[in-house]
Amino acid sequence: MKTLQTDVVVVAAGLSGLAAAITAAEQGLSVIALEKSKTTGGAASMGMGPLAIGTRHQAAVGYNLTADEAFLKHMHWSHWMVDARLVYDYYRKSASTIEWLEDMGVEFVYRNTTLYTPTRMRSYAEPERTCHAVKPADGGRLGPRVAARMTKAMAERARELGVNIMLETPGKKLIAEDGKVVGVIAQSVDGEELEIRAGAVILATGGCGDNPEMIKEHTGLTWGKDLFSFRIPGNVGDGIKMAWDVGAARGEIKLDLMYQIPDNLAHFHLEGAFRQPVLWVNKLGERFMPEDCIANTCTTGNAINRQPGHTCFTIMDSATLKYYKKHGIDIFGIQGTDVFDYFDKEAEEALENGYPYFFKCDTIEELCEKAGIDLEGLQETLELYNSDCDDGYDSLFCKDRNFMRPVRKAPFYCIQSFPGAYGSFGGLKINYKTEVLKEDGYPIKGLYAVGTDACDIYGDTYPFMLGGNTMAFCLNSGRMAGENAADYIEKNR
Ligand SMILES: Cc1cc2nc3c(=O)[nH]c(=O)nc-3n(C[C@H](O)[C@H](O)[C@H](O)COP(=O)(O)OP(=O)(O)OC[C@H]3O[C@@H](n4cnc5c(N)ncnc54)[C@H](O)[C@@H]3O)c2cc1C
Repeated sequence: MKTLQTDVVVVAAGLSGLAAAITAAEQGLSVIALEKSKTTGGAASMGMGPLAIGTRHQAAVGYNLTADEAFLKHMHWSHWMVDARLVYDYYRKSASTIEWLEDMGVEFVYRNTTLYTPTRMRSYAEPERTCHAVKPADGGRLGPRVAARMTKAMAERARELGVNIMLETPGKKLIAEDGKVVGVIAQSVDGEELEIRAGAVILATGGCGDNPEMIKEHTGLTWGKDLFSFRIPGNVGDGIKMAWDVGAARGEIKLDLMYQIPDNLAHFHLEGAFRQPVLWVNKLGERFMPEDCIANTCTTGNAINRQPGHTCFTIMDSATLKYYKKHGIDIFGIQGTDVFDYFDKEAEEALENGYPYFFKCDTIEELCEKAGIDLEGLQETLELYNSDCDDGYDSLFCKDRNFMRPVRKAPFYCIQSFPGAYGSFGGLKINYKTEVLKEDGYPIKGLYAVGTDACDIYGDTYPFMLGGNTMAFCLNSGRMAGENAADYIEKNR
């Protein structure tokens, strides 16, 4: 077995791993970053950008949320079930992290608007303007994958600093001696075992979003049946299991839950068109929430998750479709404001390709038959809902009267959604120093965890009102771990 020696081993070179590796290298340490896949960047390469609080971009437009305010908002949201010191340190670090990234050449587009809700929406209280989207390469439209520029710049910076990024070299097992972690066993690209001895190890393997068995065990949901979450290949819980094997506490594993249609990126605008406050029902044909509250995709994901079959149906008639085509959307989501410009094309494609979660029907009976909705239930719902629309008053949920549009005129359009997720959360417990904790609350010396593997700071639901939170936690916990590992190594030299 080949043996290597280094100051720090970072297991994975996704977003949090790169942040940790760069920071440790900036402290003058030698760093090896093991990466399982052929490329760096992980899930972050699919996203838009991180949260930050107190940046110059925010100051420039007079938006003055402070880290203290965000901290309290976050802690109240999570019912103080999470580590307050970790959360506080994270928010206080977030503005400097934007500068740190800008020094690497990353550019951000900051918009002093909420992406997701016009003011009329009751979707969630007081959304904050925290997300800093990465500037697209061509200066074009903001959307999925723009953050790939950030992870690319980070990988370049890591290499510049001498970080040895070993691609296709997964970490397999931690080496623990006398209660301390002192290295990692990896599998090299040619299949051989590699022993890497180190002063400290930082786990950053991105959680278990690509491991349906672990998800089923911890959440009860079955991928492909009642869960259609993003799966980043290779994020199967390796770091979590490696730490559990050396005595780490078994933290809860949750999903970064939201809602989506299956294979959503292939029907991107069509999905956006249905993310409107029209009629939403469950399998029984019953409404289950006021539809002007659906703009928070995470809390809506929770609501859908508790419906029979963990699913829901969004229905609009052709009069409402005509209205939206003419007047535009009510809810502005990640799909943009022009989703109805693409409606006919994407709807036709979905029908031609036999996409099983989109329906266009001439009668309510046909819709119920095809979609599997209870006919009697939906008829009863429509009777009340349509008459409430005529009265301009939602007698069931008090939805804003501006969104009370009846469902009467054929053809009827419907899309079926399920719980989705960007990935998993947690599995490991860490303290404010990002040290991995044992069941007794004491740290395992020499072992740190960051990013999704250790993201246990939200309570039961992602705080959508502090957007960009997952990437930001990955970046900031990565930086904290790099600094703390450096201190630990210095003390133990
Ligand atoms: C479509 C999409 C859009 C998103 N948009 C946003 C957004 O706009 N803002 C936001 O805040 N968040 C967003 N997120 C979430 C955010 O991207 C993730 O939370 C974040 O990237 C996770 O970082 P991480 O370092 O924990 O994991 P990742 O970045 O996924 O990195 C994990 C890495 O670990 C590697 N790995 C796994 N096992 C091993 C092993 N045994 N050895 C070595 N390497 C291993 C993997 O190959 C991968 O490279 C989005 C997520 C998705 C899926």
